[in-house]
Amino acid sequence: MKKRAKDKRIKKLKKSRILPSFLGLIFLIFVFTVFLAVITTLTVLSTVYTKMDQSYLSAERVASAYTNISDSKLEETCDKIDSYLNLSSDVSSVCILSKDAKTLWSSSEKQPNIKDASVFSMTQNGKTRSYKIVVEEDDQNVFVFDEGELGIDPELFNRLDLSVLRKEEYSSFDHTSILHAKLWYVIPAGNYQVCVLSNINVYATELVFVVTVLGTFIAMLVIFCIYYLVSFIFVVADQHKITKVIYTDMVTGGSNWLHFTTYSTKLLKRNRNSRKKYAVVHLRMRKYQSFCTCFGVRDGEELLERFYHALRKMIRSKEQMAYKENADFALLLQYENEEALTEHLTKIEASVSQVLPNMKLHFCFGVCLPEKGETDVEILYNNAYIARELLGEDAEKHIAFFNEEMNKQHMWEHKVEDDMERALVNKEFRVYLQPKISTRGEELGGAEALVRWIHPTEGFIPPNRFIPIFEKNGFILKLDDYMLEEIARKQSQWISEGRKVVPISVNISRAHFTREDLAEHICSIVDKYQVPHNVIELELTESAFFDDKQVLLNTVKQLRDHGFPVSMDDFGAGYSSLNSLKEMPIDVLKIDADFFRGIDSLDRGMLIVSDVIGLAKKLNMKIVAEGIESRDQVDFLISQECDLIQGYYYAKPMPIDEFEEAYK
Ligand code: C2E
Ligand code: CA
Ligand code: CA
Repeated sequence: MKKRAKDKRIKKLKKSRILPSFLGLIFLIFVFTVFLAVITTLTVLSTVYTKMDQSYLSAERVASAYTNISDSKLEETCDKIDSYLNLSSDVSSVCILSKDAKTLWSSSEKQPNIKDASVFSMTQNGKTRSYKIVVEEDDQNVFVFDEGELGIDPELFNRLDLSVLRKEEYSSFDHTSILHAKLWYVIPAGNYQVCVLSNINVYATELVFVVTVLGTFIAMLVIFCIYYLVSFIFVVADQHKITKVIYTDMVTGGSNWLHFTTYSTKLLKRNRNSRKKYAVVHLRMRKYQSFCTCFGVRDGEELLERFYHALRKMIRSKEQMAYKENADFALLLQYENEEALTEHLTKIEASVSQVLPNMKLHFCFGVCLPEKGETDVEILYNNAYIARELLGEDAEKHIAFFNEEMNKQHMWEHKVEDDMERALVNKEFRVYLQPKISTRGEELGGAEALVRWIHPTEGFIPPNRFIPIFEKNGFILKLDDYMLEEIARKQSQWISEGRKVVPISVNISRAHFTREDLAEHICSIVDKYQVPHNVIELELTESAFFDDKQVLLNTVKQLRDHGFPVSMDDFGAGYSSLNSLKEMPIDVLKIDADFFRGIDSLDRGMLIVSDVIGLAKKLNMKIVAEGIESRDQVDFLISQECDLIQGYYYAKPMPIDEFEEAYK
């Protein structure tokens, strides 16, 4: 919806600039054309009617010679007429018909076809005269109008100047006729019908007024057209500039997101049914924020600009790219199959990672391969973004292809992030305790605090569904503090109630090790409840031991100095390192459940466990075996002198009141 509104706004902006001038031009041409058409039609019509009147009068004059003459005088009259014909420019032939249309005399071979005659009438000086007009058969340029046809008042004839024009009057003019017609006027004259063939010519000189007006208007029109054309060109040029600004990104000087979505959508739509396949890629430059923190925002933007242009060189002309925001770029790449695309992206990465001379840049990519007919670039990019986001910041893998499962995971992450703060305030996070049973006498020797989320709508949520999200977004710091405080309070309560207390371990995420005052921070929470530090054990996950070792070592030392037992969790789950055992001054080693899962006592895993237990004992560490589910495993661990056992064999994690009840 949002995108459509944006597209509409841009279209409107373009229209608002071009349309007025374009419409203005069309309107002007239209008005001029109508005006000219009316003027020309009226002038030509009036000239034509005048001419017709004149030629009618000439014809009538000829006809009048035959009124009241007898048959015997006909010959003589005809001779007179012949000589008149030589003088007249209007009359070219005369033919005398009897009343029943028989030819009695003709000055030439031409004769009117009286059957095709149209009847006209004319009122002059109060007298109405009727006559017929016949179009001369060889005439191709006839302009005969019915009197009423063009809405011209028949009275117009009366007002016209009826002077007969003679040849000489025109002799000094250019006699180019632009309209001409040959009409027979058939006029009743006594016993005869006199047919007079008149030439009606409209000369260019007679239309001087029209031609002048026409010329002036055409000249004005041309000037206006040129003016509009020029302003139109300026508007289009302006438009081009505006478009460029709209589509240009201010940071890199390259294409921006709008350009990317507009042109990528076009490309995807155009190739909807073709064999060409396109992938939408979200590219993130890793550690860009750290770069800006070290070198400043300006250098950061310069880096983005250089990177953009380096990337541009790797993109083919039929592909698209744009800078999006922060350190994110969008790409639309052509591909054949996933392997080829992965190879292409790896190549791009190898090339652009060298943009800075002294620093190697790192990137990660999320890829979305559109289904056939999928053209919504924003959705596709968002999917690519989700795929990349699920990789995490530090992931070894750097290219992820989107699938629907990721979408669900992404939505879940959003929900968790939306709800977590409220959940903490509303105490939706509950502390569960899982007992650790001592191998000597199989009695309670400790417990581990494990969080559960009792969500108002989702119900019971196990920690693996939200802890990784909290680790990514940093909320784990708050949650661990909360758990620590709950345990401190509980221990304090139990101590004051006179119950026998055992050490309860709390998980401390590796995210905490970024703070140098971690030991003081933990003390400040625990000391609120005046609990002896030795009943609160801190479990650090094994992977934390691979981060900055020195910081970790210092913190572990400080925590131990404050009297907190420290344990290394999940030993053997990831990159087990016996070396790290030697270096770290820890109190407890928790052997990961992986060692025991689905194996029997003769398995190699057991041999390793017994070696690890041996080594830990030499280093004065207590051993806790996790995830123990069977009696065989318990017996083996007892035989190896493991100190504590935690696992479903004894008990699953349980709410605190259940724990209180079970271990009084
Ligand atoms: P972890 O610290 O290794 O916790 C032990 C996990 O193993 C717990 O899973 C526990 O329920 C499970 N477990 C114990 N005995 C058995 C067994 O016999 N069989 C099997 N299959 N599993 C057993 P849980 O409670 O789901 O916790 C999972 C992980 O979530 C924990 O692993 C820990 O890394 C994390 N976590 C839980 N609570 C917290 C917390 O408050 N803070 C932090 N930072 N992480 C926590
Ligand atoms: Ca743990
Ligand atoms: Ca563990």
